[in-house]
Amino acid sequence: MEIYIALGSNLGNRAENLENAVVALKGVGAVCAQSQVYETAPLYVIDQPAYLNAVVKLETSLTAEQALTALQAIENAAGRERGVRYGARSLDLDILYYGNVVIETATLQVPHPLLAERAFVLYPLCDVAPDFIHPVTGKTSTQMKAAMCGQDVRLYTKGTSI
Ligand code: ATP
Ligand code: CA
Ligand code: CA
Repeated sequence: MEIYIALGSNLGNRAENLENAVVALKGVGAVCAQSQVYETAPLYVIDQPAYLNAVVKLETSLTAEQALTALQAIENAAGRERGVRYGARSLDLDILYYGNVVIETATLQVPHPLLAERAFVLYPLCDVAPDFIHPVTGKTSTQMKAAMCGQDVRLYTKGTSI
């Protein structure tokens, strides 16, 4: 199954956290594509450092639930502490899509329910899956990205910062 993972980090060495996560994701599946890295202003809780965000496409034989468990283990290994909702974190790994499958359980919602409102997800998603169609709304990543305005997202090059 093709699975799209959103990566985010705004604590510690953010670029290294993302690089290490991509290596660790090889344990979840074969990495098919990797987006560019974007630096983004935090949403929801704005008094925290800027994030680095990326999206990775994997081919996996795990179920979505197994993949979520594996992602949480990778987050924990990166020193993720679970404090305030939407607070700063060394690593966040979210499942955006699991093929065209729609999942609504207490612990897992796929497609990720907030992806269409998040420029920090849609910019990197467009690098790896511009034409992928959201199985619920029928919109492509490109269409969703075009609807974004006012969110601060820029391409990240090592050594630069917001
Ligand atoms: P958001 O999901 O809005 O981006 P968050 O990433 O900050 O918020 P977390 O604290 O990382 O939220 O995760 C809270 C819970 O979300 C997890 O324990 C997990 O069970 C659940 N969850 C539901 N759907 C997903 C998904 N598609 N990917 C990852 N976690 C999910
Ligand atoms: Ca998240
Ligand atoms: Ca998460």
